[in-house]
Amino acid sequence: MADSPAKSNAEKSVLDIVLTVYRQVLDDPSVSPDDDFFELGGDSFQAMEIMAMLEEATGQQIRAGAVFAFPTATELAGAIGITATPVARRVTRWGGGLPQYNVGHLDRVAAIRAAVAGRPGLAVAGAAYDGVGIPACVSTAKSAADQVLAYLARPQGT
Ligand SMILES: Cc1cc2nc3c(=O)[nH]c(=O)nc-3n(C[C@H](O)[C@H](O)[C@H](O)COP(=O)(O)OP(=O)(O)OC[C@H]3O[C@@H](n4cnc5c(N)ncnc54)[C@H](O)[C@@H]3O)c2cc1C
Repeated sequence: MADSPAKSNAEKSVLDIVLTVYRQVLDDPSVSPDDDFFELGGDSFQAMEIMAMLEEATGQQIRAGAVFAFPTATELAGAIGITATPVARRVTRWGGGLPQYNVGHLDRVAAIRAAVAGRPGLAVAGAAYDGVGIPACVSTAKSAADQVLAYLARPQGT
């Protein structure tokens, strides 16, 4: 769709940003300004991703649910309400930033722990196991450290 001549440069620029983010998140370079995000197959996780990326790119706080209320790039760009042309923009993606647990994760973790138990002095910890949040990571780290310390403090010759 051609841009309306009535649109200011700032509005067009924000629309460019929103459209770029939509295309990245949906992995579809053909997304148009008036395509409905959800009709294109977008889901709520991707909607959250869009909000985070737009906050990064515009420096504006995007209210929760904005993508649900304004599902096209044109609507969302208007709703963001930026009236000045951004002087700089940057979108940061944390690809691979968090482990993605697949079906069977608990069984895999149990198998890893059973194998590691056969190697005294070795312990595993971190986001790959019992949760990606910092508290879960700290918990597995403490448990692993306790195991290693117990091994190091064992009576000699055992
Ligand atoms: C963008 C982002 C935001 C997050 N926000 C939150 C939040 O708000 N709250 C929350 O609870 N959690 C948050 N998390 C999740 C949490 O930060 C991570 O799950 C947690 O830090 C992972 O801890 P870890 O020790 O398993 O791994 P990491 O913190 O990744 O530590 C692994 C370390 O191993 C090092 N390393 C890797 N390979 C090697 C190697 N071959 N040799 C030696 N060293 C190596 C790395 O350099 C790294 O220092 C966030 C994560 C991301 C990516």
